Amino acid sequence: MEWLKIDPNVDPRELWELGVRLHGHRGPFLACGIRMGLLALRLLGSSGYSGIEAVAETGSTPPVSCLVDGLQLGCGCTTGKGNLKVVEGGRAAATFSAGERKVRIALRQEVARRILNGGAGEDQVDWVFSLPEEELFSWEQMQSS
Ligand SMILES: [Zn+2]
Repeated sequence: MEWLKIDPNVDPRELWELGVRLHGHRGPFLACGIRMGLLALRLLGSSGYSGIEAVAETGSTPPVSCLVDGLQLGCGCTTGKGNLKVVEGGRAAATFSAGERKVRIALRQEVARRILNGGAGEDQVDWVFSLPEEELFSWEQMQSS
């Protein structure tokens, strides 16, 4: 099977309208998910879609779970292919693995708090896209089991 590739260095804004079309509204957690998925590809040296798995800790309660739809665009892991799982937790975080490599990426507490306190509205999307990755997320490489 021949898989498409995702360029992890693409400007995440280029995926935004596609994300909105999939998700249905302009939510900041959707933007966070797109950026998280692309970061995962870069950290794992993956070109997405296949050979990569994601486990999101968001649970299924919006707005935090909106992140999952962004993830699907950013890294190409999808529920339909079976390489995306969503577990309970209510955390804007996910663990990605590809081959021997594994990384857990979490939205920084202060960012999540600011989004939630601000009502998770459209007005926060530009801010999410403008933040440097290190200010948006924390991450740690893990031992693949
Ligand atoms: Zn949403």
